[in-house]
Amino acid sequence: MSSATILQNYINGEWCDSSATEYLDIVNPATTEVLAQVALGTSADVDRAAIAAANAFGSWRRTPATERIQYLFKLKALLDENFEDIARTITQECGKTLEESKGEMQRAIENVEVACGIPILMQGQYSEDIAKGIDEFVIRQPVGVAAVIAPFNFPGMIPFWFLPYAIACGNTYIIKPSEKVPLTMQKVMHLIEQTGLPKGVVNLVNGAKEVVDAILDHAAIRAISFVGSTPVARYVYSRATANGKRAQCQGGAKNPVIVLPDADIEMTTRIVADSAFGCAGQRCLAASLAVTVGEAGKTFTEAIAQAATSRVVGYGLDSGVQMGPVITAESQSRIKHLVEQGIATGAKPLVDGREPLISDYPDGYFIKPTILQDIDPASAIARTEIFGPVLGLIHLDTIDAAIQFINSGQYGNMACLFTSSGAAARKFRYEAEVGNIGINIGVAAPMAFFPFSGWKESFFGDLHGQGHHAVEFFTQTKVVVERWRQNWSRQF
Ligand code: NAD
Repeated sequence: MSSATILQNYINGEWCDSSATEYLDIVNPATTEVLAQVALGTSADVDRAAIAAANAFGSWRRTPATERIQYLFKLKALLDENFEDIARTITQECGKTLEESKGEMQRAIENVEVACGIPILMQGQYSEDIAKGIDEFVIRQPVGVAAVIAPFNFPGMIPFWFLPYAIACGNTYIIKPSEKVPLTMQKVMHLIEQTGLPKGVVNLVNGAKEVVDAILDHAAIRAISFVGSTPVARYVYSRATANGKRAQCQGGAKNPVIVLPDADIEMTTRIVADSAFGCAGQRCLAASLAVTVGEAGKTFTEAIAQAATSRVVGYGLDSGVQMGPVITAESQSRIKHLVEQGIATGAKPLVDGREPLISDYPDGYFIKPTILQDIDPASAIARTEIFGPVLGLIHLDTIDAAIQFINSGQYGNMACLFTSSGAAARKFRYEAEVGNIGINIGVAAPMAFFPFSGWKESFFGDLHGQGHHAVEFFTQTKVVVERWRQNWSRQF
């Protein structure tokens, strides 16, 4: 048995041990140091949290929205004060650079800020005299207990696409972080505790599949937000909705960027390199395919190869490092295997980062930026999510062929266009069948006041995370038709 600290759950305002008997090491993917251990929680843990959240719901929903958001103002201040510390934790357990971790936490905080506008965001509608003397209105009420099931790649940000809106709307909440990176939410939960939020309003349950399944099946939990890979997103959506719950499930991606001959190649290369290799390619909005059109093929290929080769790879807490490791040894081998498969089916390694030498961290799960060129648009590697620092190059003759390629794919998370033509940009955003579009942007991540809009197999559900969509997801509408006796006033 390891002597590492075992993380606790936070249920009903108290830190408590899981009833689990199995534990997982939380490993720094650069140094391979064991940072702590996490319990692979049980359905009993979920039951405890769901009951606590259900018991807290009655008085939390009756707390005026103007009072509920006071806790969010406090949380925003605490997140600002502890910004550096949380960002360092993200880098330690997830591997991205400190700058990337800070960017992630900034996005988390912005969601808290937007949710502070709930008193106006969740207002209803009112129509007088829909018939003589009869008024009709719609009010938004919270759904009840809601839960988030999060992936490993943004341990600080992703729960915040949902949590602030959920509790601001009067729901109570359960957070299930990824078992690979549970330290960040552990720290955030300590800050939530310091806001003085009533017990049971926000609960934290660590674990993996058993915890997820228990969340999906628990009768007290009414709404589920999931972010992760497509097969699990599909599974979570089916099981949650079969159990009568609301669900919004964001899945995987294979994001193409199209480079037209009139693009500014210097700017395009810098932006695409950041998109493809930032966070070691482990972003759901990472550019994973660059589709060059016409003459862009030659100029862009030379420039991106140079950008990939010169990227500084190492431990994200060391200065000057531009890219960290991937999350686990399994992920590292999976990525290498997919690159091998791509080469076996005709792709050519233009830059091969499969055997990196990172002398200070010889055991870390590193892969350096890798570029495969001459990818056949019909091959499996052109469609498979690699989720690592691997960029594929495809060459096509026209923008129409590029859009057709995008629209024939299974995913619809993001597509970007690099051009100096407004007409081409308009055609692209009109015709591309994806939920997030970037024009001369490499990571088209929506701000907190816009929905994170995946399509096709990148999203299962109707309402996305963030902004107005989140407010709709975490409230149910009640329509009231109301008539009063006309002469009542005379009685008083
Ligand atoms: P994952 O699907 O392996 O895990 C996500 C969550 O599901 C975790 O909390 C995990 O404990 C749980 N889980 C895993 N397998 C399960 C199973 N069989 N049954 C029930 N629960 C299970 O995803 P990941 O590897 O943590 O994250 C990477 C994936 O997430 C990539 O595919 C990436 O594209 C995707 N992602 C998508 C978005 C988006 O906005 N669309 C954002 C971030 C990440």
